[in-house]
Amino acid sequence: MPVFEELSKKDHEQVIFCQDQDSGLKAIIAIHDTTLGPALGGCRMFPYNNEEDALRDVLRLSRGMTYKSAAAGLNLGGGKAVIIGNPKTDKSETLFRAYGRFVQGLAGRYITAEDVGTTVREMEWVRMETDYVTGISRALGGSGDPSPVTALGCYEGIKASVKWQTGNESLEGKVVAVQGVGAVGYHLVQHLTRDGAKVVATDIDAENLRRIATDFRGVEVVAPEAIYGVPCDVFAPCAMGAIINDDTIPMLKCGIVAGSSNNQLADEEKHAAALDKKGILYAPDYVINAGGLINVANELEGYNRERAVQQAASIYNIVTTIYQIARDEKITTNRAANALAERRIARIGRIKGTFTGTQPQKRGRGII
Ligand code: NAD
Repeated sequence: MPVFEELSKKDHEQVIFCQDQDSGLKAIIAIHDTTLGPALGGCRMFPYNNEEDALRDVLRLSRGMTYKSAAAGLNLGGGKAVIIGNPKTDKSETLFRAYGRFVQGLAGRYITAEDVGTTVREMEWVRMETDYVTGISRALGGSGDPSPVTALGCYEGIKASVKWQTGNESLEGKVVAVQGVGAVGYHLVQHLTRDGAKVVATDIDAENLRRIATDFRGVEVVAPEAIYGVPCDVFAPCAMGAIINDDTIPMLKCGIVAGSSNNQLADEEKHAAALDKKGILYAPDYVINAGGLINVANELEGYNRERAVQQAASIYNIVTTIYQIARDEKITTNRAANALAERRIARIGRIKGTFTGTQPQKRGRGII
């Protein structure tokens, strides 16, 4: 693959290939855009079929982080890392410490975190070699499990969407179909039932479903394939990606799609337009699920749960702004979210052109 051609397509700043023979480390770190601040993004470990797949994935994911941070109002850029390897068999202290040394070598241009295939345990190895790591356990002063904060942001996004569509944000008596009641889904159902919403839930894990039915009153359970056709006010995907597609859109009987899953639209442009055409309001996934990112970003200032929760709650206002842009400019909500992010980067980029003589000692990481 002609690498520079690939980088120029989506405007990446820098890509670093890292290898360490002894530990077997083969990693790629991609820094997409640092206009707003250091590039923060998780480190994914996956047994990619080939190096090209790994490179494409890290380029795609790092660009997504630029948009996510910018839309969330964070002073962070977009980056991501991938380690080529099997997370079940190839993990070792040496490998992650070797990775940590490469991250340290970037002197703060990239800040790493856990992602698919990596956990808090590995980030603690990484931390032995670098200061530029987030997603550390609460015991070590980190932010710990992000799921409750992600769920809170998602709940705020649902309320903003209901308010936008009905003029009233109350969830009392509203029907919400939740696909996946794992880490995020569980906490989301807690918020929804507390507000008097009627929850219809599904999961492929019987134990997770049992826990929901036991812990919260009045939750109705349906089979996984039945969730798309549930007549409801809100469909909240909290399991996997690409579930909004040619097959599922005709089945949907909801007014709003708003959930925590990443990459919900199988084809961003096409399926955002299809939802719009059907009169379904779509809360862009990377905006409504930014609570987890907001949570880890707070570690950079010294973790404070109250501040993280407050910032995640502002997803309500961000989602509303996106709906206003979509309405005013007659574009899909997905495009409106991208526009919000791109405009913020462009505006901040322009003011950074003013020479100040000295750099500020300390910058806030979040401006929401
Ligand atoms: P999780 O693995 O804890 O929960 C996912 C749940 O979905 C599990 O209970 C699983 O059994 C269920 N599931 C899987 N396939 C299913 C199917 N076909 N039908 C119904 N249920 C199915 O994951 P999570 O941390 O709760 O994350 C949920 C989604 O939100 C993921 O897409 C994740 O990438 C995204 N997300 C999570 C966070 C976070 O803070 N955890 C942050 C941002 C985005």
